Amino acid sequence: MTPAPGPHDPQSPGFATRAIHAGQDPDPLTGAVAVPIYQTSTFAQDEVGQPRAGYDYSRAGNPTRTALEQALAALEGGRSGFAFASGMAAADTYIRAALRPGDHLILPDDAYGGTFRLVDKICVPWGLTYSTVSLGDLAAVRAAIRPTTKVIWCETPTNPLLGIADIAALAEIAHASGAKLLVDNTFASPYLQQPLALGADVVLHSTTKYVGGHSDVIGGALIVDDPELAEALAFHSKSMGAVPGPVDAWLTLRGVKTLAVRMDRHCDNAERVVELLVGHPRVARVYYPGLPAHPGHAIAARQMRRSGGMVSFSVVGGQEEALKVCRRTQLFTLGESLGGVESLIEHPGLMTHASVAGSALQVPDDLIRLSVGIEDADDLLADLRDALD
Ligand code: PLP
Repeated sequence: MTPAPGPHDPQSPGFATRAIHAGQDPDPLTGAVAVPIYQTSTFAQDEVGQPRAGYDYSRAGNPTRTALEQALAALEGGRSGFAFASGMAAADTYIRAALRPGDHLILPDDAYGGTFRLVDKICVPWGLTYSTVSLGDLAAVRAAIRPTTKVIWCETPTNPLLGIADIAALAEIAHASGAKLLVDNTFASPYLQQPLALGADVVLHSTTKYVGGHSDVIGGALIVDDPELAEALAFHSKSMGAVPGPVDAWLTLRGVKTLAVRMDRHCDNAERVVELLVGHPRVARVYYPGLPAHPGHAIAARQMRRSGGMVSFSVVGGQEEALKVCRRTQLFTLGESLGGVESLIEHPGLMTHASVAGSALQVPDDLIRLSVGIEDADDLLADLRDALD
């Protein structure tokens, strides 16, 4: 298998080339161009304790999963990649591998609701402490650091408010106090943003979203440079067992191959949608980092290739009006998740972010979130116009 290039290797081929080839050499036995689905739990050994190609049991490792892990590491420019059964499994495994009871974690004040729930309901009883802070306010981040702070957990752009955090500045703050910076890169995808090159220590993905890209598989990933952390992750992954099966790994890998072309189309379509929303009398506010008025616009322009396919907006008339728009679209399917080829619409307050209601992370009740798909932009605009009018 083609090894993942080292971090930020100038010899490394372009992104789209890596997406199609890294970790995906033709099968040495048959020449199969697509990585085979090694649907097996165990592997024959020629001698006691001597696995043939390093594989002994699929919880610890499986060749289809290895191909995905090498591809993801190559796309993020990291030394080691780990695939998981879901984004939340990746988050949980990282926390257990890198943190201990008594440690402190800084979470963004608009973190993905599931991340907040994992930390607040599962890791706090385990002994973790945490603070939420607006990552856009670097002075507030510095003030939130404690002697026990081990990790700053960053999402950028954030879900669902599309807030932007300065990855390089946060890495500097984290490292100055001996902490690490994790970036949940789900919203951007490795095509639009590569946090390790900006100083982050860990990249997390819900590969369920743009990386898989077809709304047909749940998965997660961690990509790191540090060999010691990689060893801890391999040990925890094997011990906790939250790994994807070979079919899920294969489906995700198939999605990876088209990530570059899909992301450009997501961005093209989102830009058209934003143009419509900004000028629409029934729209009160549009959240999109590509807008010059967005408070994180300059940082996004610096650290992202383009502004992404996620758009949030609030409507005039509050929650009732927002719910009506969500019910009226035809092409934008009412549903959770994001990053698939098909466009989705949702009400974060009552859907994806219901778990943060009543907490510091509560989202506005007139907010609508769009995952803009790769359909014909004109059809998407017509659908939104009909739903708004
Ligand atoms: N991180 C972000 C930003 C997400 O949006 C999600 C899911 O929506 C997750 C993590 C969790 O991923 P999964 O649903 O694959 O467990």
